Amino acid sequence: MNVEQAKQWLRQTSARLSEHKDELSTLDHALGDGDHGVNMHRGFQAVVEGLDEWEDLSLSSLMQKVGSTLVSKVGGAAGPLYGTAFMRMGAAWKGIEQVNGSAWSEGLSKAVEGIAQRGKTSTGDGTLLDVWSPVAEAFTEGEPSWDNIESAAYKGMEATEEMVVKKGRGALLGEQSVGHIDPGAVSSYYLFQELANTMK
Ligand code: ADP
Ligand code: MG
Ligand code: MG
Repeated sequence: MNVEQAKQWLRQTSARLSEHKDELSTLDHALGDGDHGVNMHRGFQAVVEGLDEWEDLSLSSLMQKVGSTLVSKVGGAAGPLYGTAFMRMGAAWKGIEQVNGSAWSEGLSKAVEGIAQRGKTSTGDGTLLDVWSPVAEAFTEGEPSWDNIESAAYKGMEATEEMVVKKGRGALLGEQSVGHIDPGAVSSYYLFQELANTMK
């Protein structure tokens, strides 16, 4: 992935999140406060607006800019988590113009580490990490197979339905959180599906 492809990925993700804004908020209504679609839409819209201004940035700096924009514009719990993920990818890709096999797995494993630290969470807690983590693992198998990445994201998202949510607002529901797909896992699935669509 070069900087132009990264921008295309971000634009497609923004469009996808805007299409699914109501769906994501409805999912968050069951587990939380019903704003996840609005939050993500606002954040990625700000990213897309930024893309025109951030023309001459390297891939690494672009990812860090995206991260800080998501922290400030998404807000809520998801903002700092998505923001940290992008900032860690940016830091991992310093001096890299074209992300390839090993840089992908390095960047994604740093992102996962960042989410886990920031959210004080681990896999199985029924959050967006349950998508990011299997995706990062799918990247460790050499040059990315985009179909594998996409299916890892899909399976991770689906699996949150059967989980007792341990972090975020959904955790307040205890066992009652079972039977609901996590909204952050769904937005993360869209993010990675658009990555695959961009790179395929
Ligand atoms: P808020 O809960 O503040 O309204 P959002 O609705 O935008 O924020 O985001 C909720 C999503 O954030 C959840 O679906 C979950 O995936 C994720 N999330 C919340 N808390 C955590 C946490 N501690 N660790 C990992 N992910 C979390
Ligand atoms: Mg919410
Ligand atoms: Mg909220």
